[in-house]
Amino acid sequence: MIDAYGRTVDYLRLSVTDLCSYRCQYCMPAEGVRKLRREDILSVEECVEIAQAAARCGVTKVRITGGEPLVRRGILDICRGIAAIPEVRELCLTTNGALLPELAAPLREAGVQRLNISLDTLRPERFRAMTRGGELNQALDGIAAAERAGFSDLKLNTVLIGGFNDDELEDFLALTMEHPWELRFIELMPMGPCAHWDRGCFLPCRTVLERFPALEPIEARGVALRYRLPAAKGTVGLISPLSHTFCSQCRRIRVTSDGKLKGCLHSQEEIPLRGLHGQALEETIRRGILSKPQEHHLTERSSDTPRNMNQIGG
Ligand code: SAM
Ligand code: SF4
Repeated sequence: MIDAYGRTVDYLRLSVTDLCSYRCQYCMPAEGVRKLRREDILSVEECVEIAQAAARCGVTKVRITGGEPLVRRGILDICRGIAAIPEVRELCLTTNGALLPELAAPLREAGVQRLNISLDTLRPERFRAMTRGGELNQALDGIAAAERAGFSDLKLNTVLIGGFNDDELEDFLALTMEHPWELRFIELMPMGPCAHWDRGCFLPCRTVLERFPALEPIEARGVALRYRLPAAKGTVGLISPLSHTFCSQCRRIRVTSDGKLKGCLHSQEEIPLRGLHGQALEETIRRGILSKPQEHHLTERSSDTPRNMNQIGG
């Protein structure tokens, strides 16, 4: 479906939980989040029903996210249900990878086609500090398990944080020499716990290009500008929501784990979907697409949404 600014909207990001096994410092408060009551979270059936209605509005790609989607009870049923929607040609999932050793193969059998795995550092101590208790080895085992399960088009998401991981760029890029992965650097967005972090933490993605002029541009994919080191097996993606607003190319709508439709990650506007079915649900999603804002205002101020990233789905 085309929105009010002429953009085709065909991509739904569906958050299936706001809970997580980690507490990444930029994403979640140290004390974690208050557990919502089970009935306040979309049920498996509601997740599938919303995806079906979104598909009738023109959505062809769904990404399941969170919180950590793999801690969600019924995650495989959600994936199976969405994979069975004929209009949905791409079903992807974003995860911190910790549970992939158990779940990579079942996810693939349930119809997930592609995985994005978050990896902000290659140093165990830093990993523990940033995730507040996570183990780097678990994430690396998760990546290996995803490959064994046949996920060939792996993307690794690294949030670029000045003073935390910008001295590891070379190590990250070295991974693309050995592995056919897309290593994606994402600019840190000022929201939730990191909204007021020191300005030096918010590095533009062009830092990567400035430090590694050997990176050769290749075809862009979605909102990612892409590059490759000579003779590398993998690629490098740069996602710059701050320094290069990609709002004019945004194809996304989002649904939070408590069933609110958001036209933009950073806007305050939320449209409740729970309790709606059939035609009413479809019409409400259409209304949400038509009210998708033209752009965010992150260059002038921090995000307008009062939610943390784990509540919306990154
Ligand atoms: N738990 C899963 C994970 O970590 O991949 C899925 C949810 S997480 C919210 C999705 C993505 O959002 C992760 O790659 C995370 O690093 C990113 N993210 C969270 N907060 C962010 C922020 N303030 N700016 C940029 N990316 C952020
Ligand atoms: Fe959890 Fe992902 Fe947020 Fe980290 S970024 S706390 S893994 S939801």
